[in-house]
Amino acid sequence: MNKNLKFEINYTCYETWDDVPENYKHLMTEARKAKDGSYAPYSNFNVGAALLLNNGNVIHGSNQENASYPIGFCAERTALSAAASLASHEKIKAIAITCSSAHNPVSTPAAPCGICRQTIFEAECKHKQDIEVVLMGETGEMYVFKSIKDLLPLHFDADFL
Ligand SMILES: [Zn+2]
Repeated sequence: MNKNLKFEINYTCYETWDDVPENYKHLMTEARKAKDGSYAPYSNFNVGAALLLNNGNVIHGSNQENASYPIGFCAERTALSAAASLASHEKIKAIAITCSSAHNPVSTPAAPCGICRQTIFEAECKHKQDIEVVLMGETGEMYVFKSIKDLLPLHFDADFL
């Protein structure tokens, strides 16, 4: 006997910037500032991430490419590494991620890659606290997920080890 099952993902979509609550506006503005540190001479796709810690501090990250492509870092993992180094015991409340491209205007939220989803999930596990994920392009809608688990169904965690 087989069963056909499905996952359901819940998230909030703010259709315009005017609809966005102040706390998300603030964190997304920080992510845009973080994007200024992006080093992306190969893709010309610039990404910024801002982490909001429980103590109210914000930590920036940006993508860092390399001529040896696979060793580049995504903005999300750059920010998470900075947080782990600078404030290792501080829990993370939220991550805002934004991007822009020299080739096309980005008007839809770009979601984190698979490696970053797993890395954000590890930070949730480490601190035993869900991390809100706030996504937006240069313009357009903003998506807010209550936990990275919404973007990582059937996640792999330490329980398997
Ligand atoms: Zn990534």
